[in-house]
Amino acid sequence: MRFEDLRLSKPLLDAVRTAGYETPTQVQAQVIPLALEGKDVLGCAQTGTGKTAAFALPIIQRLSEDQPPQLKEGERPRFRSLRCLVLAPTRELAKQIADSFATYGRYTKLKRAVVYGGVNKRPQTRTLRQGVDILVATPGRLLDHMSDSSVSLKTVDILVLDEADNMLDMGFLPDIKRILSKIPKQRQTMLLSATMPPAIRALASEILDNPVSVEAARVSSPAENVEHWSYRVEKDGKANLLCSVLEATPFTRALVFTRTKHGADKVVRHLSRAGVSADAIHGNKTQNARSRALAGFRTGKTDVLVATDIAARGLDIDNISHVINYDLTAEPETYVHRIGRTGRAGASGTALSFVSGEDRGKLRAIERLIQITLQPAVDIPGYVAPKGREDRPIGRPRSESGRRSNTGPRSDGNTRSGSSTGNRPKPRFANKNGGPRRRPRGDKRETTTAAK
Ligand code: AMP
Repeated sequence: MRFEDLRLSKPLLDAVRTAGYETPTQVQAQVIPLALEGKDVLGCAQTGTGKTAAFALPIIQRLSEDQPPQLKEGERPRFRSLRCLVLAPTRELAKQIADSFATYGRYTKLKRAVVYGGVNKRPQTRTLRQGVDILVATPGRLLDHMSDSSVSLKTVDILVLDEADNMLDMGFLPDIKRILSKIPKQRQTMLLSATMPPAIRALASEILDNPVSVEAARVSSPAENVEHWSYRVEKDGKANLLCSVLEATPFTRALVFTRTKHGADKVVRHLSRAGVSADAIHGNKTQNARSRALAGFRTGKTDVLVATDIAARGLDIDNISHVINYDLTAEPETYVHRIGRTGRAGASGTALSFVSGEDRGKLRAIERLIQITLQPAVDIPGYVAPKGREDRPIGRPRSESGRRSNTGPRSDGNTRSGSSTGNRPKPRFANKNGGPRRRPRGDKRETTTAAK
């Protein structure tokens, strides 16, 4: 399948070529032809599947074909009416989607804007009042602008709800309903969600008209090329364990998940004291601080990003070698979202989970969902018990019937090979005394390839 087979117009084909895409992803091949026909779409797809282009490309094409009445030479439209609204749960995701619209619409004349909370409203108001074709928004800030009469949704004829499950988890349902009540019923609607719990199905049946359902990747099938390991640790030993693990593990970029914002800050402080460059991203940070943390992580200035689930939703960052579940979550699907950040685009990745006594149930739920046993880290070739403690396997059978197990050590030769006594992997941040230290200035390390 080629992009040319999807009936996309030349400006869009040129844009995907400029973006370096060779072939459509599975979700793009499925959604684009249907969305071009104006059909409603219910898409089960998570970040990393190319879902943004799957809805953005047909939207741009439809809006470009359906231009407002021709203007005379040199005449500028006095006011553009808003024709497409995309709702997203977080500021970061909204920004990412707007950037994607810019990438794919670079050879068209459509105007787009993005609005989200946590930043000054005035510049957004100015942009909205000038008129835009496509608006990407988080629900709360959009409602703000609506009540200021900075934007009207009366002319919207394409609506997208992206990461709908996350929007519902975050309590946005009432906001979404208020927004929906202001959009004409006669419209095209696309709803994308990584999971399809009953609440999403109910919303879908309410707002979609005879939709076609497409499924990009089952949420319960995490990247095949991710290794899953678990560390048995008591709660108060997690911070030290994290330092030891980072010290002993060669990694490119590590994303650490904590349950709370406060917990994320504590972990960053602990890592910083140990000389590891780390930053946090969570809802209590200002938009600027979050953007700075993300930029530092994307460019390789920061080695470790500590995040809460909500703040990290939808983040598209390449080359994350390790996802570390500092705290496990009660929702096993969240594990799948988290590890979806590593092992992307065919690269291999590693997921490490810290399991305290009270987490056993959560661990089992995760294993049941993904049908993989998280192997105790003592089995990692080259494993060295963190300082000050003797690690023991988590007390349960290694492999239960019907489950796949980790496939064992990676064969790429750049990580954990060798025995626990001989070939201990070289710590990436070791100083002369074997302790961690900051990366020296000018260290030419791999940096991200797709900071969108
Ligand atoms: P998404 O799932 O929309 O967040 O996209 C994930 C990543 O895949 C983004 O970095 C996109 O730029 C990239 N991408 C989207 N479509 C393609 C494609 N057809 N070929 C290669 N990369 C793609």
